[in-house]
Order: sequence, then structure tokens, then C-alpha cells
Amino acid sequence: MKDIEKNVKNLLNSLPEANPFGEKITLVGAVKTQTPEDIDAAVKAGIRCIGDNRVQEFRDKYELISQPCERHFIGRLQTNKIKYLIGKIDLYHSVDRFDLADELSRRSERAGVSSNILLQVNIGREQSKGGFDIDEIDGVYEKVSKLCSLKVKGLMAMLPESEDKELLCSLAHMMRTAYDRLKSADKDICTLSMGMSGDYELCIGQGSNMIRLGTAIFGNRNYNV
Ligand SMILES: *Cc1c(COP(=O)(O)O)cnc(C)c1O
Repeated sequence: MKDIEKNVKNLLNSLPEANPFGEKITLVGAVKTQTPEDIDAAVKAGIRCIGDNRVQEFRDKYELISQPCERHFIGRLQTNKIKYLIGKIDLYHSVDRFDLADELSRRSERAGVSSNILLQVNIGREQSKGGFDIDEIDGVYEKVSKLCSLKVKGLMAMLPESEDKELLCSLAHMMRTAYDRLKSADKDICTLSMGMSGDYELCIGQGSNMIRLGTAIFGNRNYNV
């Protein structure tokens, strides 16, 4: 068996049936830098959703991936590149500012499609990361949910890199609390996207129901290809 296939099978076997809230966990393959062949191998082995970071890479590979799967966008998105994605993305994880939501709404309406989005929260308040502040997320949700041709499905976050498990747990817990507040008011809210190869177990433990894994599926990335 190829490594990718083995990794996917092991991952799917080792993930719990559900998170502590009884929700199923969706595994999204983070496919940046991976070849279409390797992506196809991961989908064949059981990955149902794949997530891209860069619009150019998404476009280059779009026609080359032959296995049927959901397509997600998980990277930073410039408003002037939205036009290349409209109608092709099942879920945008990384809506990190109002003008991006506004432009996604406009473009979706013009194309006659509805786009599913997650609001990205900068839970570690890191300079290097995009996203809304956790304290403003209810107001952001109110504003964004009024935009046409968009459906807010939940929240997304990337935890900071830290060895401090207690800190990470408390940040992940804050995300779940905000998510539950939105969910109690909106039945379309069903996704908390949180967890990467280094921290997905911790995130699931705090109530994440969607994890985005790259390294754990494909091994270390080679950015020089
Ligand atoms: C690359 C990436 C991941 C996966 O990272 P790994 O540590 O390789 O699992 C998850 N989310 C986003 C937004 C990414 O860019």
C-alpha cells in the first residue's frame, strides 16, 4: 500500500466516531503543493473533501483531479481572485474580513449561486494570521448573514503554535462557546473547522467537527516542486 493510502486508512480508523458533542467529524485534506495523482490517491482511500490554499494552484489542478470530492477553499483569499472560484467551491473556510464576504456575496448573486462560508476567527490574536476577533464575531455574523447569496455555516480557526496544552485547550474551548452561541440562533450553523496535523486531537476534544490535515495525510510538504 502507498503511504498516502495507509495514512488515510489509519487516520480514518483512529478518529473517534464523534466529538464530545456527538457530532461526526469531517476530514478535509489540505492539498497545497500535492500532485493531482496524490490527491486522487487520498480521495480513493476515503478523503471526501479537499481544501486548497492558493487560487492559482486550484485552477491549475482543477481539471486534473478525477476522483469525485467536495472542494473547499482554506487559504487567504484576495477579493480580485474570487471570480475564479465562484460556483466551484462547496465551502469557503477563510472568510476573514467583511469586504471579502461582501464581494463573495456580490459575485455569487451575479452567477446565480449560493456560497457556503465559515467566518475565520484569529483566536490567538496573531499578527501573521487573518480573521475576526472572537469578541466581535456575533456582530460580524449579524452583518454577514444579511448578505444575499451567502450562507454562514459556522466558524474556522487556526490555533497558534504552542507547547502550552492548557492555553490551546482554552482557546479551542472559546471557539466552541462562540460556535454554540451562533448555532443556538441559526439552524444552518453546523461546522466548526479547527484542527491541523499537530493539534487535531486536542481540537476534537474541545468540540471541533471538521479538521484540515495536510502533513498527516501526505507527509512533509516540499515547497520546491
Ligand atoms: C496547510 C494547512 C492546513 C494543514 O496543515 P498540516 O499541519 O500540514 O496538517 C490546515 N489548514 C490550513 C488553512 C492550511 O493552510
